[in-house]
Formats: sequence, structure tokens, C-alpha cells
Amino acid sequence: MTNSNPLEHPLFKIISEASQELHQPSYVIGGYVRDFFLNRDFKKDIDIVTVGSGIELAKTVSSILPEKPKVQIFKTFGTAMLRAYDIELEFVGARKESYSRESRNPQVTPGTLQDDLERRDFTVNALAFSLNMEDYGTLIDPFNGIQDLNDSILRTPLDPDATFSDDPLRMLRAIRFSCQLNFEIDQASLASIKKNNDRIKIITKERIVDELHKIMLCPTPSIGFLLLEKTGLLPHILPELTALKGIEEQEGQRHKDNFYHTLEVVDNISQHTEDLWLRWAALLHDIGKAPTKRFSKKVGWSFHGHEFEGSKMVYRLFKRLKMPLNDKMKFVQKMVMMSSRPIALTDDHVTDSAVRRLVFDAGDNVEDLMTLCEADITTKNPKRFKKYHKNFELVRRKIVEVEERDHLRNFQPPIDGEEIMTTFNIRPSKEIGIIKEYIKEAILEGVIPNEYEAAYNLMIQKGKKLGLTPASNSTDKN
Ligand code: ATP
Ligand code: MG
Repeated sequence: MTNSNPLEHPLFKIISEASQELHQPSYVIGGYVRDFFLNRDFKKDIDIVTVGSGIELAKTVSSILPEKPKVQIFKTFGTAMLRAYDIELEFVGARKESYSRESRNPQVTPGTLQDDLERRDFTVNALAFSLNMEDYGTLIDPFNGIQDLNDSILRTPLDPDATFSDDPLRMLRAIRFSCQLNFEIDQASLASIKKNNDRIKIITKERIVDELHKIMLCPTPSIGFLLLEKTGLLPHILPELTALKGIEEQEGQRHKDNFYHTLEVVDNISQHTEDLWLRWAALLHDIGKAPTKRFSKKVGWSFHGHEFEGSKMVYRLFKRLKMPLNDKMKFVQKMVMMSSRPIALTDDHVTDSAVRRLVFDAGDNVEDLMTLCEADITTKNPKRFKKYHKNFELVRRKIVEVEERDHLRNFQPPIDGEEIMTTFNIRPSKEIGIIKEYIKEAILEGVIPNEYEAAYNLMIQKGKKLGLTPASNSTDKN
């Protein structure tokens, strides 16, 4: 536990002053208090609870601050936010919530601090420091949150069934915190999540995805996904992953369990990248394997075309979860689509032209693709593990070489259609496409370098073969 003063920042004294002025007791609460005791990095947002109006408190705090920051008011929630010293301060009035079976939305009424702490999700999030003159800095811990912090336990303050059923998002928050903090979810809470898992249906996709992203950005995301699986939440959220579970055997041949394999890949890649979307690509890289799985006596288990199928599923999945259907989605699709390409190069087929084609197709994403494929190596055979990695090292070196020589990334053909038309004095026609493709192929195959003159000469040659005549001012460029 840390010895430094959690209320050292001048902002706390100012909030204290404001709440005295308004005769509204105030408290720091939630993540800030929890993370202080856990010695975690301060994430620049602080939650303040006041017994009274959060909006009034925010306004008064702003009036005391020399720069009078703007107060953002969220009337429907009765909350307010302001930014000062590069910190986001969130103010909320202490409240009591009562849920009825008939309605998803609780009846919210002003309450005491105790009421407010009771409706919080976990005991470790129901800790508060007083900002009031008479007991400034005193820790308030009605549910033994400190004990649970020390034991690394997530436990609901009240009956877990009520807590999770009232706001089912808390089930996902339990899993997310477990993954972020490396805490265990206490047995009763875990059992309750299992029991209430189908309640997650009433939660908006946006809030669900928010938690998924946070799980995804943990150092070891598999902790979260294994819990999603164990609690039965996974089929409600990502059935594509559930479908990868299991090992089948036919004629004595077994395939690997692609769910656990996937989680290993996600953990692996998380050691090499913080990029959320590359991590998503790792999570989804094999989803096409469930619908494409076949067994035949001749070849055994196969997943023919799973990359293509998977990339189509990425679109549907993003759409269902209301995730952005933008360049991020296209990036994930492309990674899934190309996820087997570098592997095809490892069987001693690392030829220059194969590498050129890879760089050409992957463009700026070629390093990300390599990172994904390296993470995809989960063999438990140390000899093979080493061999695959060595091969990918070779591919990476070749990529650099080919790049230096041929500049194929974001390839722009050295000869464009316009030039072909003027050279042969022709109008738009299929010959132009044929010549362009011929030049591109020659460059990728290494027949000619990716340079203007060589491409020009090849254009003349190919044009003539197609029965075209160069206009009189066009000559061989040597
Ligand atoms: P972090 O900011 O690191 O995600 P946090 O604990 O501050 O963690 P917030 O989402 O910022 O989480 O919420 C602030 C506090 O509000 C929490 O600590 C918790 O006490 C309470 N809280 C937030 N969401 C819920 C919820 N769905 N149900 C109950 N209490 C919640
Ligand atoms: Mg917070």
C-alpha cells in the first residue's frame, strides 16, 4: 500500500471549499480511490459524489477556479463535468435507485452517501474519501472494500442477483475488472452471473462493445474471454467464438480446439502491440473455421476458404455489435483475409516474387500482418516453434530487401492508362487493361524492375503483340 497523500492535488481543497459553501457533503469515489490503494497509474479522471446537486457543486467549483472552466451538464442524468489541470472531474448527486420488474430504468431519487454506495457495482468501487472539513481525508468503506482489495476479490456490495439483474452491464464490468486488475470474481457473484447471463440482452451494443474493447486492451485478454465463456455470456455476445470451441475426431484424426488456440494468439499478439484493431484481428482471424470445417478420408480436416468466409463474418459481426463499419473494420477484414498468406511462404518458398506479391497485396499493413502470423504460432513442439519463427524472420528480412529495391508498398504502376492511350493513339479499350496487368505481373515476378524505362519498353513490346502501333513520336527508350 502506498504512503503518499491521495488528496494532495489542489483540486480537492477547492472541491472541499465549494461543498462547504453549498453545505453539501462531498466525497471522492470510485476508480480514483481504488487505484490509489492499488498503486495504479492515475488515469486523469476523478468521480465526485455529493449529497445534494452535482450540477450546483460543479458550477461552484468552476467559479472558484481562476480559469473558470466550462461546466458540461447532463440534465437527464443529473451529472456535470468539467476539466481542470488536465483532469476530468465528474460530479454526481448521491442517489438511491429502485428497480421494478416491469421497467428497465430505475426510479432515481436523491439519497444518502450510504444509498449511493449500495448501488455501486463492487465493494472495491464503493470506497470514498471525505472532502468535508470535519473529517477531511477519512476513508469510508461500508462494505469492506479494502479487505477485498487486499484479497484481490470482486464482490457486489449487496445481493449479487439484485446487483446484476438491476444493471446487467455489471456482469461485463466484473469480467473487465477481473482482467484489468487480475482479481478473482467471488464465488457467489460468479454463480449469479451464470444465472443471469441472458439479461445481457437488454444492454445496448455500444456499452457492451465498450467493455469488450477494455478487455481486449488488457495485458492478458484471455482472462476476460475465458470468464465470458465460463459464465455463459460469450454466446450472447460473440457466438462466432463459441462456435470455435471443441475438438472433433474422425477416423482417428483430430483438429485443434480453435477457441483456445485463438485466445493464445490474442495473448501472444498483446505482447507485441497495443493496437486495439490488430488485437481484434487476432481474435477473429479463425472465425471462418467453424462454417468451413469439413472432414474427408483423403485430406482429413480442412477449413477451405475460411479466411474469405471469416472476412465476410467480420462485417456481419461489426454490424451486429454496432461497431464502426469504417477503415478499422476494413483493416480487420483484410488481416483475416490475408492471415494465412505469410504461412504459405514458410515451406521453403520464400522466393522474391512471393514476397513481392505479399507486400503488394498487404501494402502498409504488411508488418501488422507479420505480427499477426507470428502470434499465430502456438505449436507446443519447440522444434517447430523455432523453425516457424526463423522462417518468418527470413520473410521479414526479405520484405525489407524487396521494399528497398522495388518500392512496392502502395504500388503505383510506372505506366498508367493515360500513357498507354497516347503512346498507341487509342481510345479507352480492353487492351489498356491487358497491358497494365502485364506490366504489373512482370514487376511482381521480377522480370523487370519497378522502373519507368523498363516498363515503357515492355508496354511497346506487348502493344505490338496485340497489334497496336506506337504513334510516330514514340520510340524504344534505352
Ligand atoms: P475506470 O475509470 O478505470 O474504468 P471506474 O471504477 O472509475 O474505473 P467508471 O466507469 O469510471 O469506473 O465509474 C465510476 C464509478 O461509478 C465506479 O467505480 C463504480 O463505483 C460506479 N459505477 C460505474 N458504472 C456502474 C454500474 N454500471 N453499476 C454500478 N456502479 C457503477
Ligand atoms: Mg472512472
